[in-house]
Amino acid sequence: MSMRVVHYDLSLTLSPVPPESPIADAPGSVDLVGTLRLRNEGARPVRQVRLLLYRLLEVTSAETSGVPLALRQVQRRIPLDWTDALFVNRVTVTLEKALEPGAETTLTLHYGGTLVGYRELGPYMHDSVQRDVAVLRPEVLWYPVPGPLSWQGFMGTWSRATFALRVRCPAYWDCFVAGARRSEHPDGAFTFESTGTASTPGIHLYAGRYVARREGPVSVHYLPGGESWAASAAAAGAFALEELERLLGVPPVGEGRATFVAIPPGWGSQNLFDIITQTAEEDPARTFREVAHEVSHFWTPLEDDPDRFAEAIAHFLQDYLEGLRGGPTAVDAAIASHMAALGRQPEAAKAPLAGAGSHPALETISREKGPLALWALARTVGIPDTMDVLSAWAGTPGGGPKDFAAFLLERAGQMKGFQADPFVDDWFRADLCPIDLTLAPDAALRRVAANYLDAEP
Ligand SMILES: [Zn+2]
Repeated sequence: MSMRVVHYDLSLTLSPVPPESPIADAPGSVDLVGTLRLRNEGARPVRQVRLLLYRLLEVTSAETSGVPLALRQVQRRIPLDWTDALFVNRVTVTLEKALEPGAETTLTLHYGGTLVGYRELGPYMHDSVQRDVAVLRPEVLWYPVPGPLSWQGFMGTWSRATFALRVRCPAYWDCFVAGARRSEHPDGAFTFESTGTASTPGIHLYAGRYVARREGPVSVHYLPGGESWAASAAAAGAFALEELERLLGVPPVGEGRATFVAIPPGWGSQNLFDIITQTAEEDPARTFREVAHEVSHFWTPLEDDPDRFAEAIAHFLQDYLEGLRGGPTAVDAAIASHMAALGRQPEAAKAPLAGAGSHPALETISREKGPLALWALARTVGIPDTMDVLSAWAGTPGGGPKDFAAFLLERAGQMKGFQADPFVDDWFRADLCPIDLTLAPDAALRRVAANYLDAEP
């Protein structure tokens, strides 16, 4: 794609349906003025700028420095692996004169409309403006993105643009944007300036009728009815941060703080580093598990992780924290659940962890076999040595190296009696399930550990 946005300047007004409206879940609307600084990174002059926008957002005018520009909008389909029904508004703006290679220009668009989610993209893409909350993530194209009609096309353009964002919303709402510095203005608007610190590129915005609860380094922002969840989440977050920092050292991201922002059930939790979005659950045990998992991700800052080993580590740490809270039976239950999942999916049980990224059962491999491998390691070399490896991995500048197996082999010399080569072969490289899934967790892991320890002299 030759045309790229280097900076967005967005002014957004969120208009939820008023509280007195008889239809509680009617979606509200958005109004935007977006100024895009565009750069032609191609080899040829470009006169027509093609942008993708959410299918129900309509552009009412386009201009450059006050000069109105010709504008065309068409509903177009983006072909994806899993659906052929993803429609976008394809906006074509004709510049006054062609933009030369290497040159920049600004383009201002006035646009708006209603969002009713993008369920075609995934079951959790409910992004919209609801009565009490609004979620706008980059996937729903709530701001225009230059790109061809392909998923990779616009995914690629998120990462490199900086942004300034001004948000107007009801006076009783609060607003959060990942990877951004926030300030409040006397007129009640929020302004955000990108810092580039979010785990995922693009502009992720959460606004709503939030109330804050703080506990040490943890703040929890909850929606009406979420008080008891907020209490559980704040306690779990503070516990997880303290314990993991004791075990693994200062986290490489997140500055030792955690900010949780509630989202409605089924909207997709995510650790964006400076904010963690989370569903407000009724069940405190489930809240503990989910909070422990997301906090664990502060120690898995992999920039390039095709095999999703970050998930394996986060699940292992989550299990470990559950054990600290609930005792050995809680750890056994977590391990038994990984083993049961692998029992139900033998192709995942047999798949090597290295190269899992290209396996159709990636989810199960990274979330079930990965943590099981770390439990096998912990049972073999002990928890302190295992945590040392994870801590060194997390502390490697720029995120951990891609190949955890190679990293483990490098450090294995420091672990007395540990035969790292067969361990790495069995778990990371071979097509086999190195653990007997029919045994109870403790017996199965004891047998595994015996395989990788030097025989007693
Ligand atoms: Zn995770």
